[in-house]
Amino acid sequence: MGTNGVKMRAMGKRVIIVGGGHNGLVCACYLAGAGAEVTLLEQRQILGGAAVTEEFHPGFRNSTASYTVSLLHPRIIQELRLVEHGLRIEPRQVNNFLPSIEGEGFISHGDPDRARSLLAEQCPQDINALTQYELALHRLAPVLRDLMLTTPPDLTTLSFSDIPRLFQLSRHYGRLTNEDRRLLLKLFTVSAGEILDDLFVSPQLKALLGFDAIVGHYASPYTPGSGYVLLHHVIGGINGKTGTWGHARGGMGAISDAIAAEARSRGVTLVTEMPVERIEVQDRKARAVRTLNGDSFEADIIVAGVNPKLLFCQLIDPAAINPETRLHFEHYKCQSGTFRLNVALNQIPSFTGQPDPSVLTGGVILAPSLDYMDLAYTDARQSGYSASPVVEMMIPSLVDDTLAPPGKHVASLFCQHFDPSLASEWTHRRDQAADTIIDTVDQFAPGFSSTIIARQVHSPWDLEQKFGLVGGDIFHGRLSLDQLFSARPMLGMAQYRTEIDGLWMCSAGTHPGGGVSGVPGLNAAREIIRTL
Ligand SMILES: Cc1cc2nc3c(=O)[nH]c(=O)nc-3n(C[C@H](O)[C@H](O)[C@H](O)COP(=O)(O)OP(=O)(O)OC[C@H]3O[C@@H](n4cnc5c(N)ncnc54)[C@H](O)[C@@H]3O)c2cc1C
Repeated sequence: MGTNGVKMRAMGKRVIIVGGGHNGLVCACYLAGAGAEVTLLEQRQILGGAAVTEEFHPGFRNSTASYTVSLLHPRIIQELRLVEHGLRIEPRQVNNFLPSIEGEGFISHGDPDRARSLLAEQCPQDINALTQYELALHRLAPVLRDLMLTTPPDLTTLSFSDIPRLFQLSRHYGRLTNEDRRLLLKLFTVSAGEILDDLFVSPQLKALLGFDAIVGHYASPYTPGSGYVLLHHVIGGINGKTGTWGHARGGMGAISDAIAAEARSRGVTLVTEMPVERIEVQDRKARAVRTLNGDSFEADIIVAGVNPKLLFCQLIDPAAINPETRLHFEHYKCQSGTFRLNVALNQIPSFTGQPDPSVLTGGVILAPSLDYMDLAYTDARQSGYSASPVVEMMIPSLVDDTLAPPGKHVASLFCQHFDPSLASEWTHRRDQAADTIIDTVDQFAPGFSSTIIARQVHSPWDLEQKFGLVGGDIFHGRLSLDQLFSARPMLGMAQYRTEIDGLWMCSAGTHPGGGVSGVPGLNAAREIIRTL
């Protein structure tokens, strides 16, 4: 991007980006790099959206919301010079540890050789099928990663400009074998549980793999479509190792800070504590944004780095958009049902069936089987949340001494199946739910609760209030077929432009969806630059 011709045309174009999440920041960098005059307005006092590190108790800092890296696109790391700006991402030594209340835990090691020998001990009957499954995912991942960078075709018009997009699509698809295509079709349409039950025997192995299908997805692993959510979580990688996850030193805020540093170096004006109240539209053209404190910023181009539902249902006058668009976004599904705790700890926990503390450097998943997850979802539908919820714990201070005082620790608890439809009712139920989560950890790690010095609690409602995540949805919209690719966030608007002239979108609510990838921001910038 950024040829001289484009630079000439972009020069002097005033761009306002609404929302300083990492996607807004990425988009700002590329647009400024192309020559535009970019100002970004963020409502909070801190940039990064759901990718931030904050002190939640004196001396204890942690990633407040997102907590682990895999999806951040290598192109963004390189082009935005994130390493030069201080970003360090360490792959996990141990991918995951699944403790069991009754017996031995299940370990997925980060080192491929150790992983293989451990799995051969833990689930010998599944080892061949697992090898085939992993090989297939490794073939699918690069194709899907390329697809992430492809702007989806507009299926409402299929115009001349969609021909290259369709060509790219068929080229990606053409790289797959028929066997891979069959698996892909299944992953997009059936449940993760069904796929895993067909392939494997070990309940713990199935739980380990199936956990990815319910992360940020308010559904059972047996809900059709959950296979895609699983896929979404395994197509990333660290240092070229597909499917691996890692820790950003300093927490997830280090990613946003590095992108913000690049944005500043490209001349972007970054303004915090500047909530946008309205996007002013006149004659179907976006003209300006008005902030809550009454300031007005005129612009040639406005890019919304916020959830599209928030954009269309709160920031634009209903009279300025088509009624069907308004209706679509009223029904746009935002409901990941996640609950997020940060705890300051006196000491690290000790789980039953834990061979040694090194396994705690991975994600500790408290969900011993797919049935456990299925029941947690059913309970949540009946009672708001389960007495035995699904919890993943990370203890980043084990690998990062910048987060807690010496000898102390911080842990992230990421918990699934907390009914998002309870909305503001969560203010009355959040502490009780947090107690249930801690009681659940106590069952797997006796005495855990007595080591807690302080806690920070985020129900789905808190996530919405603090970060603007509508419905507490961590992905800015459910990752289901009706809200993916050419349909994200709406058929006819998946090319990052809206029906309002000059108004664009760049958040996780656009293709390829949620996670700290930066790709929606990059893709949106590319499409905007094309029109300059
Ligand atoms: C609890 C939780 C755990 C997660 N865990 C992971 C993980 O471990 N790994 C991973 O890859 N992903 C994870 N995710 C998902 C990932 O963090 C998000 O999908 C991603 O960060 C979204 O980025 P974004 O820039 O598109 O939007 P956001 O990060 O949501 O940024 C939008 C920004 O817009 C601002 N804003 C909203 N309204 C206004 C307004 N009116 N005016 C001005 N500013 C406004 C918000 O304050 C926010 O800063 C998690 C998310 C959550 C919430």
